[in-house]
Amino acid sequence: MATVDLRQLDRREMEHLLQEMGHPPYRGRQLFRWVHNRGIASIEVITDLPKELRGQIAQQSEIRVPAVVGLETSRDNRTRKMVLKLPDGEMVEMVVMEYLGRDSRDRITLCLSTQAGCAMGCLFCATGMGGFRRNLTTGEIISQVLAGQKLVAVSGYRISNVVYMGMGEPLLNYQAVLKSIHILNDENGLGISYRRITLSTCGLVPEIRRLAGERLPIVLAVSLHAPNDHLRDRLMPINRKYPLVELMAACRDYIWQTGRRITFEYALARGVNDSMVHARQLAELVAGMKVNINLIPLNPVAGAGLRPSPRGQVQEFASYLLKYGTEVSIREEMGGDIQAACGQLRRRVLAGTTEQAGEKGVKNAGRRAVPHRLGQA
Ligand code: SF4
Repeated sequence: MATVDLRQLDRREMEHLLQEMGHPPYRGRQLFRWVHNRGIASIEVITDLPKELRGQIAQQSEIRVPAVVGLETSRDNRTRKMVLKLPDGEMVEMVVMEYLGRDSRDRITLCLSTQAGCAMGCLFCATGMGGFRRNLTTGEIISQVLAGQKLVAVSGYRISNVVYMGMGEPLLNYQAVLKSIHILNDENGLGISYRRITLSTCGLVPEIRRLAGERLPIVLAVSLHAPNDHLRDRLMPINRKYPLVELMAACRDYIWQTGRRITFEYALARGVNDSMVHARQLAELVAGMKVNINLIPLNPVAGAGLRPSPRGQVQEFASYLLKYGTEVSIREEMGGDIQAACGQLRRRVLAGTTEQAGEKGVKNAGRRAVPHRLGQA
């Protein structure tokens, strides 16, 4: 009999599972806490459930824990990137970034993947270059957070923020992503506030409208990267299907329906989208909208032929937007020694050009320069 992955189940489903075995719902909540808060890898360690019940649960379910097959850490120790190997051999990346003692908002942010590969083909993205493999399950999405949590727990910390901005387009894996958001938010699990969860999309208009209907107080980030259709068609093929006029209308409706601000991600590529003409076009595009423009120093990807804009140009671009009254921020560069972008560590693991790290290796991993992805969907 096929068994269910417990990391795949939300609290209600676990309560239901235990009820079906003839036990009260609170047993399901206990199980949920062990799986989604403590991140256990074995049903056997659940000491507050009777042995007989543990045996019953183990007959019908299991806890699928992906192996850690790649781990790299930036020189400043603040950014760690992991590659997890899934049961069918697919590999996904996740990044843990520590923002501690820098400002009043201490946080540890985990950037996770929602698909193995991606079909969107954005020009600046290593994942897009590799094509689409498959959607991740809810359990596989949750497993990334639990792996990150295990990593930071060694230093006594907890993951405080989660961004769905790794490999894949989250809105093309809608149900699994939505369910994982609810599980992460559950007070019996990690209890991560919806407001500390960011979902990033490359601009899928029907799905943005669908998400608006969920009325979730999460942060929606839309990858814009170009202020006109001509350029965006080239950088992000999805624009040919949903051009800017449709995307911006969906974004306006989203803001109106949810009352929430949208973040527009804009990665600056030298000589491509970073002129003052582009800044003016961008300011005009978002005029009157409740948005924040997040400027990102582009992370160069081999083969993409794009280079990051110089720091001064990024500042000038930001100043121009500010003059127009647009709210703007510049994403802090984490791990300046890191060269690769989204999907590159996975590619190197596949090519066998990086060290392999087992579960034990997480704790013992040395500090080395690593790739970290900054400019993604
Ligand atoms: S940037 Fe995001 S949406 Fe675009 S190809 Fe990469 S993973 Fe896919």
